Amino acid sequence: MPFMVLVLLLWLTLTNTGSSESINHVNTTNIPIQLFCGRNAPSNPLNFNENRDSSFNQLRLNLLSNRVLYGTSQDLTGGDSVFTLARCWNYLSVDECVACFDAAVSVLVSCPDGNGAYVLFDNCFVRYESFVDFYTNPHAEQDAGATQFISCGNQSASQLELTYNQTVSAFLLEIRDVTPKISNFYVASAKEITNANATVYAVAQCVESTNQTICETCMNIAYKKLDNCLPSTEGRFFDMACFVRYSETQFFNDNKITDITNVLKDNVIGNSVKVTIVASVIGGVALLLSILISCLLYRQRKKSKKTEQDVDDLEGAIRYNYKDLKLATDNFSEGNILGKGGFGEVYKAILGNKNIVAVKKLHGVHARAKTEFENEVKLISIIRHRNLLRLLGWSSEGSNLLLVLEYIPNGSLDKFLWGARKGTLDWTQRYEIIVGIAKGLAHLHDELHVKIVHRDIKSSNILLSDDFKPKIADFGLARLQREDQTHISTTGYAGTFGYTAPEYALLGVLSDKVDTYSFGVVILETISGRRSTEVVSGTDLLLENTWKLYEKKMHLNIIDEMLDLNQDEQEQVMKIIEIALLCTESPVSNRPTMSEVVLMLREGQLLGNRELTRPTNFVHNQDRRIHIGT
Ligand code: ATP
Ligand code: MG
Repeated sequence: MPFMVLVLLLWLTLTNTGSSESINHVNTTNIPIQLFCGRNAPSNPLNFNENRDSSFNQLRLNLLSNRVLYGTSQDLTGGDSVFTLARCWNYLSVDECVACFDAAVSVLVSCPDGNGAYVLFDNCFVRYESFVDFYTNPHAEQDAGATQFISCGNQSASQLELTYNQTVSAFLLEIRDVTPKISNFYVASAKEITNANATVYAVAQCVESTNQTICETCMNIAYKKLDNCLPSTEGRFFDMACFVRYSETQFFNDNKITDITNVLKDNVIGNSVKVTIVASVIGGVALLLSILISCLLYRQRKKSKKTEQDVDDLEGAIRYNYKDLKLATDNFSEGNILGKGGFGEVYKAILGNKNIVAVKKLHGVHARAKTEFENEVKLISIIRHRNLLRLLGWSSEGSNLLLVLEYIPNGSLDKFLWGARKGTLDWTQRYEIIVGIAKGLAHLHDELHVKIVHRDIKSSNILLSDDFKPKIADFGLARLQREDQTHISTTGYAGTFGYTAPEYALLGVLSDKVDTYSFGVVILETISGRRSTEVVSGTDLLLENTWKLYEKKMHLNIIDEMLDLNQDEQEQVMKIIEIALLCTESPVSNRPTMSEVVLMLREGQLLGNRELTRPTNFVHNQDRRIHIGT
């Protein structure tokens, strides 16, 4: 019997090779199945679009003249860099690939002006971006938050469900295990459903620039998602690292089937076949041995399946038990409190007697549907940037909502400006802090596929690493609040007095420029060592006072007296104060985006001909926090 299985398997694979070449099974209709149009406009859309079009033309030529199914191209003319990529699945001919590419490009260029977009078709994937990382890194930072694409056909198999599910699931398992082991990470295969006069076809392809581990991970996820599609007769999975599709309808030609028998034989999963062959040949004792091996392998597979499950479920963040966090914070003891904020306390916690983390209790955050809360947490936790504080995990048992965060022993910037460690930061450190915050915010605004507006940028939300580099904290918290809490219609928290942009505080108008405004205020605090809410002169708070000094060209007067600056440094500070004033201007359109601020700071590219205008002041309020609609 085991021999029969093996023979049948070999026969199936061999007979599928090279037959009926005359019928073309590739569907070249080319309908988009997933389209993403970036929402952030390039700095110069005209220049950007020209570069995009010329890069696509170049890419098309590459595909055609080099007779390849994958290519990249870029055009960096005039400062608006564009990077393009085309990837066709390996069962296509070059001409079919170019036809798919053409269809994809015509969809992409109809996206409204944005600095990136991609589209997935059944036969190809085409993308353009203003950054290059995605060429070689399927998990580019900028893609954090991008979702996987899964679609299950709505027709169920006509065969006996159990047999169908078992056969296709085993087939997908083979594909999963074999693909990462094949040099070009590509498999096209077919499997007959016993007694059902039906065949299932499958293709899997990991991106060419990846490695075996990333391919394995992607295949594991694809397998799990597609296995859930069964008994549907069709399933597709796509993520930046791989594509897998199975279907009862043949969608590639027989001559494109890959011979996976050798890999299958060496494969651990194939060991069930291998083991039984050994058992048949060497008889009784060996049979017993092989059964034992099979059991062990089975257990091991079950175990590894569980680990994958955990990893997939968490997608970077770890779910903690409330009782473990209670233990780690010594029963949320007063002594472990690092600070208190608008949401509740932050505690120092020691997990498993070794890892120090910070645990933030979220009071007053509406425990929305748990999955929604967890989805937000997952989204935040996959964001990685050296200037953004990492969210490591969460706990949401009952009404207890807790976030587990990277612990930063130095604490927050405010302590270094007017708190216990006042005066300990020199100018270079302060400058690096300003630049780092700008970079972190630019990442949140412009480099992810979901724009995240922090809404509560202030010195206590800037933590300083051991080498005094800034890490922005609480950047996802606004997303954890009910949407209606941040708009004018209801009473709610909308930022902190002294930092919040007037249009947001008064009218609830939210945009990334809300963060630009608060960032401007933080610059002034960092330079002056004073709180934004401090009355500096007469009744003037820091911002108002800085503006008045600027009008008299005396804005150097705001510099922290703890700083001893040379002439060059003073000039640099003056320009940065001007950037801060520009950031706090109204109307909103006067304010630069954070990406522009990074350029201004980094390249000394300053205000140019821009005239500064007086910043709009905010409404004074007794309460430190701003409430709107009351
Ligand atoms: P808000 O609630 O608006 O964010 P806040 O930043 O003052 O206001 P919390 O975020 O609760 O309040 O933080 C309180 C204090 O705890 C911070 O000022 C900071 O000093 C400290 N803190 C917060 N997170 C960490 C962390 N991950 N590592 C070390 N200290 C932290
Ligand atoms: Mg905070």
